[in-house]
Amino acid sequence: MYRTFSVSRFFGLLLLDAFIFAVGGVFFLVFVSSADSRDEEAVTLPVLMYHSVCEGVPSEYVVTPEQLESDLQWLSQNGYKTVRAEEVISYANSRGALPPKPVMLTFDDGYYNNLAYLLPLLEKYDMTAIVSVVGEYTDIDAAADPHVPAYSYLTWEDIRALSDSGRVETGAHTYAMHSLYSGRKGCGKISGESEQDYRAALTEDIQLQRSGFTEHLGYAPTVFAYPFGNVSRESIPVLRENGYLMTLTCRELPNKITRDPNCLYGIGRFNRSGLYSTEEYMRKLTA
Ligand SMILES: [Zn+2]
Repeated sequence: MYRTFSVSRFFGLLLLDAFIFAVGGVFFLVFVSSADSRDEEAVTLPVLMYHSVCEGVPSEYVVTPEQLESDLQWLSQNGYKTVRAEEVISYANSRGALPPKPVMLTFDDGYYNNLAYLLPLLEKYDMTAIVSVVGEYTDIDAAADPHVPAYSYLTWEDIRALSDSGRVETGAHTYAMHSLYSGRKGCGKISGESEQDYRAALTEDIQLQRSGFTEHLGYAPTVFAYPFGNVSRESIPVLRENGYLMTLTCRELPNKITRDPNCLYGIGRFNRSGLYSTEEYMRKLTA
């Protein structure tokens, strides 16, 4: 009796162990390995933010062509590969892959010198960039005083030339909201403004910009750079409803790009001040 009981208990324990092992194995496969694969799919994306590229004295928002070239050389020598917004958007929407060390170059405000100095360097180093333009700078300022590298903005013909190069994507930097003096900081909500009024103001600006893009370039922008990095919570649904798939801020944070398109709203960028050396800036960017 005792012996019979002991044998059956032994086999019973053995079965129990096997069961626990099997359940544990299934748990590991389902939860742990899927967490691993999710981690593998979260890609770190540093994003550089430039403005003007100009000969002369560098400043917080101006780098010289030599400084820009030194940055591109550093990225290239350190194994970084530029990616287009389009590729990052596809990745977040579960399509395609990103290279092992992706990096995104962005240029705000739409300076003519992005065509004069940036494009030849992108060709030389086989890279790509996003140039985000301000509608009224293109329509009014560039048309009145074009092609001075120090201060002119891109005309529609210039933007088309950048776009046709296949190396530059054009983003929106608002039509007429790139100002600190209109009572509104960039496209932020004014304190006390109703949500309805804010939504109407931002929508009107977006539509003005989109009509310029469709008329002159034949497509609507999908990337939006917040002027002065001023993000209003209320802007997010308005931008999404108007076809923006990625928004760029000035928060100096690295990005984790996952297979979830929500990660594309509020991309962090590091301002490339001309007051630093390439090494100093890259140390901050890749910390
Ligand atoms: Zn700007």
